[in-house]
Amino acid sequence: MKSFVLDQLPGRVVFGVGALEHLPREIERLGARRALVLSTPGQKTQAEDIARRLGDRCAGIFARAVMHVPIETAREAREEAKRLGADCAVAIGGGSTTGLGKAIALESALPILAIPTTYAGSEMTPIYGITEGGAKKTGRDRKVLPRTVIYDPALTLALPLALSVTSGFNAIAHAAEGLYAEDANPVTSLMAEEGIRALAQGLPRLARDPLDLEARSECLYGAWLCGSVLGAVGMALHHKLCHVLGGSWNLPHAQTHTVILPHALAWNADAAPQAMRRIERALGSASAAQALHDLAKSLGAPTALKDIGMQEGDLDRAAGLAVQSPYYNPRPIERAGLRRLLDDAFFGRRPR
Ligand code: NAD
Repeated sequence: MKSFVLDQLPGRVVFGVGALEHLPREIERLGARRALVLSTPGQKTQAEDIARRLGDRCAGIFARAVMHVPIETAREAREEAKRLGADCAVAIGGGSTTGLGKAIALESALPILAIPTTYAGSEMTPIYGITEGGAKKTGRDRKVLPRTVIYDPALTLALPLALSVTSGFNAIAHAAEGLYAEDANPVTSLMAEEGIRALAQGLPRLARDPLDLEARSECLYGAWLCGSVLGAVGMALHHKLCHVLGGSWNLPHAQTHTVILPHALAWNADAAPQAMRRIERALGSASAAQALHDLAKSLGAPTALKDIGMQEGDLDRAAGLAVQSPYYNPRPIERAGLRRLLDDAFFGRRPR
């Protein structure tokens, strides 16, 4: 067996249909008396419900979270937390809202209680990202890791099916790359395989009935596992490509992950055979890359960069950016090969 290091992250997870009922108990456990509730403008009603549940432990609501945490929004939220004398941030929403909570915590070490409503997984990671001058800077810092996470599948019922599917692929991508991570270990690999299995079985059930609470539970359970993998081990080519495409062309986060993942796995297939066997076992298929491409297609998710806002004329530059700084990947990265990968992803070809 390969030698390994396991550095487990702390954190409390409360999972289950109706888990939101435990919010008062959980906020008390954190010792918070003045919580600032965060959400996007679109989820303000959910933020108001959280504020009601918190009663006099709620200091206020900041419902202006947006994608990729612009520094201006982070500054406004930090100011609001200071002005209100907040001693905790409660983030209800997807990765954008959790990300805003992290931007506050990065500066103030305010504890975060996260209530995820997508499958992005940010709530399980010490990774933050803040966008300044058109570039998103990311880093790892344990102070941004939420102290408590409440997963209530009922809160994901309103997540539109299309976003549920692409968000699920975003989660699968964390687990897939976690299986061939440089610092992979047996525990995160177990979580990764089980996370992929749960999502690959849950997403088709959701497509049949988006209000199926059992399927919603299965998907959120998978997202928790996949997010935990992202928080614990390093990522590789797939995440680099998505970061480049999202950062420089502002492509939508979850959809970009959905399109790129089969191609990134095809690239790494021969160099990471054990990881591929585990992904294939989780998917019940003989080819990880092709199975994910087929799954995305069958669920009506985008499979081509040209359909999510990319221009063919920008592919050369994207390939150049993706090879710019060195990073770990099972198979060495070279520009001409990546350019071909991006071409396949642009046209949505089934990976070979
Ligand atoms: P998001 O948070 O931007 O949410 C997308 C939209 O869906 C928002 O308008 C949101 O309000 C809405 N929404 C969310 N849940 C809903 C629900 N249940 N019902 C109805 N509407 C709902 O999208 P995301 O994909 O969750 O997050 C993407 C962001 O998170 C990106 O910026 C990405 O970089 C970041 N991210 C960070 C990490 C990390 O570890 N730091 C991990 C994954 C993603």
